[in-house]
Amino acid sequence: AETQVRQLQKMEAVGQLTGGIAHDFNNMLAVVIGGLDMIERRIASGRGDVERYVEAAKDGATRAAALTQRLLAFSRQSPLAPEPVEGNRLIADLTELLTRTLGERIAVETVLSAGLWRAEADRGQLENAIVNLAVNARDAMPDGGKLTIETANAHVGDDYAREADMAAGQYVMIAVTDTGTGMAPDVLAKAFEPFFTTKPVGRGTGLGLSQVFGFVRQSRGHVRIYSEPDVGTTVRLYLPRFYGETPTPTPRAALQPIRRG
Ligand code: ADP
Repeated sequence: AETQVRQLQKMEAVGQLTGGIAHDFNNMLAVVIGGLDMIERRIASGRGDVERYVEAAKDGATRAAALTQRLLAFSRQSPLAPEPVEGNRLIADLTELLTRTLGERIAVETVLSAGLWRAEADRGQLENAIVNLAVNARDAMPDGGKLTIETANAHVGDDYAREADMAAGQYVMIAVTDTGTGMAPDVLAKAFEPFFTTKPVGRGTGLGLSQVFGFVRQSRGHVRIYSEPDVGTTVRLYLPRFYGETPTPTPRAALQPIRRG
């Protein structure tokens, strides 16, 4: 019986994983389709200037190809790869892609904090998380609006940690804010649940936020959502600070021989 339970848990985990990957893949295809759509429209209206949309489509397709590469690597058992990540750089690199993906009626603004610490996270997963949040933001702004991505150093002290149910420590905070529909309290309460979606069949998988949650928790970070109906939503990611700016070599005297017995 116990092995059956374990087997079931394993199948559940695999199901969540493949669903999550399908979700990412879908987002990348959305980038490709969005780019091709724009090209089609521009050609139909006799406007030239399609190069940047060709670039967008190629970018999306390249990311999709990289994802299947990662998938293959995973099937050969390669774990998450945390590394020092410059959050501002990562967001700056993503902004072009997001601007083009979100369309002309959504303005993309970044507020990048100077002197931002480096985060310790899997770069590809963090990119996926931000694209996930941006696609959710787009869906919440059918009539257009503004997407703001913000970074800041966050020092979470003991008191605040207890109150916010977080681990005390230093984090790199990345916030994605939209001016969209917001969430009613009952939606907000379920937003992180796998397969919970309010979107029509074929549009939503309900895996975006649960995937973001899983990634952030696996990275020993936290995620918080603040949302108000008709005002908008902010999702804050807290990723652990990477300590390693000045690698201090271990002094010789500190290298004690291991004692046995
Ligand atoms: P999906 O986007 O496939 O529905 P998610 O797990 O990403 O799955 O989101 C779950 C639900 O949370 C969405 O269906 C939507 O109702 C709500 N939601 C997520 N992000 C936002 C947002 N930025 N604004 C409003 N509602 C949101």
